[in-house]
Amino acid sequence: MDTGELISRASRFRRDLHEDATSPIDIFALTLAIEGISLFLYPLGSGISGMCIKSDDTAVIAINSAMSKGRKRFSLAHELYHYKYGNAGEATICSSSLSASDNDGVERDSDRFASYLLLPPGAYEDRLETAKAKSGKIKLADLIWVEQRYGISHQAMLWRLTADGIITPAENLALKDGVMQEARRLGYDTTLYRMVSEEHAERKVLGHYVQMADNLLKQSRISNGKYEELMLAGFRSDIVYGDEEDEQIGD
Ligand SMILES: [Zn+2]
Repeated sequence: MDTGELISRASRFRRDLHEDATSPIDIFALTLAIEGISLFLYPLGSGISGMCIKSDDTAVIAINSAMSKGRKRFSLAHELYHYKYGNAGEATICSSSLSASDNDGVERDSDRFASYLLLPPGAYEDRLETAKAKSGKIKLADLIWVEQRYGISHQAMLWRLTADGIITPAENLALKDGVMQEARRLGYDTTLYRMVSEEHAERKVLGHYVQMADNLLKQSRISNGKYEELMLAGFRSDIVYGDEEDEQIGD
């Protein structure tokens, strides 16, 4: 699809969610504000970043929780493209490599949409141009500043800069390695880049699924036992048994 059309789709999506044109967004919070989406966080294996199953007025989105924070955010933005522009009845399972197999198809469009949604055109170019004018080249630290501000993975950042013609493929290669060490040295939190082990990956369902079960219980259409079964199937033992954090509200 034409780049201009994808940019305008991403910009419309931001507007629909009452976000301005160029600020960083909390993509997880925004997704949960959309009615009808059930969001599953689960370690899906190394080859899969996420999936989207869409029906007429609801959707199930699953995100591989054993990925870095940056990749999870990108993957969710990608799945939101399937949610918004896919057909009802469609189920899409998405590869964890950026536009691996499908150069002109919907997977590539979803990746580009995700990139424009998280990092809109106009959000970062000035900063990088100023940095380049000052030191003659774009340095890893300049990229890290943008990545941390917009919550975008290093791989997605390099991909975007190359696509926008801001860096050459040779510069892309030179800027590829050492991001974690440099980010740490610059005083940033490195969870944006750090993979999560399968053992420690989140297992949780959020959104519509939980609300729907709660409504069915309130309307006495399911038993308490069935409700608990549904919550436990969605890894929500915290709802069934309570959570020790419930007593420690700190906000
Ligand atoms: Zn996809």
